[in-house]
Formats: sequence, structure tokens, C-alpha cells
Amino acid sequence: MATAQLDSAALRELTGAFSGDLIQPGDGGYDEHRKVWNGSIDRHPALIARCAGTDDVIAAIRFARQTGLPLAVRGGGHSFPGHSVCDGGVVLDMGALTGVEVDPDAKTAKAQAGALLGQLDVATQAHGLAAPAGIVTHTGLAGLTLGGGIGWLMRKFGLTIDQLESVEMVTAEGEVVHASDDENADLFWGLRGGGGNFGVVTEFEFNLNPLGPQVMAGPIFWRMEDSPKLLRFYRDWIAEAPDDLMTIIIHRKAPPLDFVPQELHGQLVVAVVSCYAGSVEDGERVLKPLKEFGSPVLDLCEPKPYLQHQAMFDPSFPHGRWYYMRACDVKELTDDVIDTTVEHSMQIRSPLTAFPIWQMGGAVSRVADDATAFTSRGAGYTFNITAMTEGPDGFDEEREWSRDFWSALSPHHMGVYVNFLMEEGEERIREAYGAAKYDRLKALKRKYDPENLFRLNQNVRPD
Ligand SMILES: Cc1cc2nc3c(=O)[nH]c(=O)nc-3n(C[C@H](O)[C@H](O)[C@H](O)COP(=O)(O)OP(=O)(O)OC[C@H]3O[C@@H](n4cnc5c(N)ncnc54)[C@H](O)[C@@H]3O)c2cc1C
Repeated sequence: MATAQLDSAALRELTGAFSGDLIQPGDGGYDEHRKVWNGSIDRHPALIARCAGTDDVIAAIRFARQTGLPLAVRGGGHSFPGHSVCDGGVVLDMGALTGVEVDPDAKTAKAQAGALLGQLDVATQAHGLAAPAGIVTHTGLAGLTLGGGIGWLMRKFGLTIDQLESVEMVTAEGEVVHASDDENADLFWGLRGGGGNFGVVTEFEFNLNPLGPQVMAGPIFWRMEDSPKLLRFYRDWIAEAPDDLMTIIIHRKAPPLDFVPQELHGQLVVAVVSCYAGSVEDGERVLKPLKEFGSPVLDLCEPKPYLQHQAMFDPSFPHGRWYYMRACDVKELTDDVIDTTVEHSMQIRSPLTAFPIWQMGGAVSRVADDATAFTSRGAGYTFNITAMTEGPDGFDEEREWSRDFWSALSPHHMGVYVNFLMEEGEERIREAYGAAKYDRLKALKRKYDPENLFRLNQNVRPD
């Protein structure tokens, strides 16, 4: 069916107008470019349009409208539910557009929409600067930013969108528009959390802040049986911690890596991973009580380049494994939240499953909730219950574990970060934004994409 639809005047017109690569089934590179990060997603688009510039984006959008084929938009390909690839449709792939231009005097960076987080970090750290973004360098900047963007620097500098100055975007009509506080301010509001619902972003402009290059950062591990006491100590200690400090709690089986003592390999462990975004000396002082708590089995929290810390999780979340996730925000680590967490962490089967509990707050919570479409500013912690296997073996069981754990936390659910949703239906998307913001996003959708061309996402329907 797809081949017949593509053999048309529309395809000839597109081919004539397109500077980048157009890849169809059977072409070299088709399998490489249809793959996304989550190996459990296996879809076969009719056409992959690897854009080489804004004109290509306009041409690909026009082609999708002319043919009526579904349109998936790809930045880094890290959507957990695989929204950036589709069966039988068009993938508008921004992955070849990775330029990042830093103005060190103005402390700003312009990034093309195919850039990965690591590319932004490397370009900005070359000037001792940074934009707050995520914790795995091979994640796409576009999808992450459009959902909000949480990461190591957020408690000090806010979310990725809190340092976003302006955006260039192509609409469903093929028009290039700019959005900032001064121009199309309604769109700028929606792009800061509303995902890919309104158009295809071609460029982001960020404010930068001085950072590092050395930071005090890394994980400290304890045995899983210490987790109930550790998490109770942690919640009291962290309540007094400055915004320079951001922490993530991980429960998993210790991986068989060189730096992990052999007797721990495969054993259930808990880690508190820290990043102190101030001076190394202050970081050492602030982190001392954590380092001295109980009997850590491994302490890798030390001064290191920020870039090294940013890449720390890369090997734990590689491309191609099978992933499933349920997520929720909670207000606090109450005794019940802690006990539920430990009980379910004890049931992790896969040697690869590693799930983060993100400490929120700080600068994130000081921006007014209605200032942007992002809606988890009041969260104390974000649970990201990630199940992971090498392939299909054991995947269903691990997915059930994730679902059961999430359900057990349901008395404490207070919302969910839209970038941590799977394919969970309209009600969950509405829940992620809350009723008032959801209605505001709907109105914006009616203005910018009334026909819902951009629907392969956490979709806000125009009707
Ligand atoms: C390993 C891993 C680590 C992560 N770490 C973090 C983290 O630290 N912090 C955090 O906040 N989130 C994190 N996430 C979640 C992440 O923010 C989302 O998965 C996000 O969608 C990834 O963006 P992407 O461009 O790679 O995704 P893609 O799959 O390419 O795109 C996802 C969606 O974004 C939209 N989109 C992408 N590009 C464009 C564009 N140019 N214009 C308009 N819409 C576009 C589309 O709707 C698309 O369906 C992580 C995800 C993974 C897999």
C-alpha cells in the first residue's frame, strides 16, 4: 500500500525540492534509520526524510499533507513509546541537523533540532558554560526540550525550558514562525512542555550559565537491605541541601563492571547519585554526611569534569535494548513510599533494570506553574520505573513488575512528566497537564494544527 501511495506526483515533487536524503524500504540505510532507541519498537515507515535544512522540513510537511500519510517527527529517537517512527507513514528526521553555535559573550547557544544533549554540552562547556538538560548524552535535545527537560542542573538553573529564549518552528501550513516571550508568546508558552503538537522545531536558542568544568559528582552505593534506613536518612538530609545539589536514587542489580567489586556483581544495590553545581569544595562539604552514612559498598562521588559525569548513565541505557516504563510524581518520600519502593526494588529480576527516582524542587519549583505548559513543578520526586531487558526474553515479566510497582504507588501519585508517558491514552495526557492547561493547549492546537497533522506524540487533540 505504502509503495503505491509513494509512486506519485507528490513523491516526484518532493524529490525535486529535497536536499537531504529520502530513504525508502529496500534503500541502503533504511534499517539503520528506521530504528529508534527503544528496541521493543519495530516499525516500517514508507519514507524517511532526512532533512538538510528548513526548506526540507517544509517540503516533507507538504508531502505528508498531500499524501495523507501519517507523519512522525524525529529528533534523537528517544521517545519511550516510539512516537518518532510509524508504520507505512513518513518519518521527518532532523537527525542530520546537529549544529550548535555558542556566543560566549552573550552567554547563549543556538542549537539545531537534531542535536543530541552531548553535543550541546560539549559546545557549551568549551566556554565553561552550560544549559540545563538531561542525564544521558545520546538523548535528543528537541523532544526533551519540548516536554520540559529535567536533569542535573535543574535545581540551580531550572528546567531546560526555563533557559529557553526562543524557538524557530515550521507549522502544519509550512510557514516558518518564531516564538519567544516577545513574539507568538502563546505558542512559546505551549512549546515549553506541550511537546511536538504544534509544528516542527528547527532551532532552539538557550541562555547559558557558568559551570565547572570540575564538579563534585557521582554515585555512592549501599546494599539493597540498607535502603529503608538510607532513604529515611536521605529525605531528612536532602531537605536542608542547597539548590546546587541535585540527586537521583537508583535501585538495581550491580552491573559486572571493572570498577564494581566482584562480590557485588548481580547483587541488589541502592545508589544515591549526586551532582553539585557549585564549587568542588562546597560540594565536598555538603556531601560529607551522605558519604558517611552507614556502610557504603562503593563510593564514586568525587571531583570530575562535568562532561564525564553527564556521560555516566550512557552505558546503562544503550540503544536497542527493550524498555518499558511507568512514571509518576510524588510529593514526598513518606514511610509508605519508601517501604513500597524497597519492597518492589527487591523484586527486580533483570540484571539490566535500573530505575531512577529524581529529586525535584529548587529553581524548578520557583517558576509559576502557569508560566509554561510543563506541569510537574510542585513535585517532590519523580519516579521513572524503567524495566529493561536485552530483548524479548523476560520482557513481559519485567514490564509487569513496572506496572505493579507503579500501581502500588498510586495512593501517592500527584501527576506525571509528559516525557515519561508511554502510550497511555488521552486521560493520562490530560492528567499530565491538568484540566486548565489541557484546555489551553487544545485552543493552541486548534490555532496551529487544526487538522492534527502532528498527532504521533502525546497528542492534544484539537477537537
Ligand atoms: C535514555 C533516555 C534518557 C532520558 N533522560 C531524560 C532526562 O534526563 N531528562 C528528561 O527530561 N527526559 C529524559 N528522557 C525522556 C526524553 O525527554 C524523551 O524521551 C524525549 O522525547 C526524547 O527526545 P528525542 O528528540 O530523543 O525523541 P524523539 O523520539 O526523536 O522525539 C520524541 C517526540 O518529540 C517530538 N519532536 C522531536 N523532534 C521534534 C522537532 N524537531 N519538532 C517538533 N517535535 C519534535 C515529536 O513529537 C516526537 O514524537 C530520556 C529518555 C531516554 C530514552
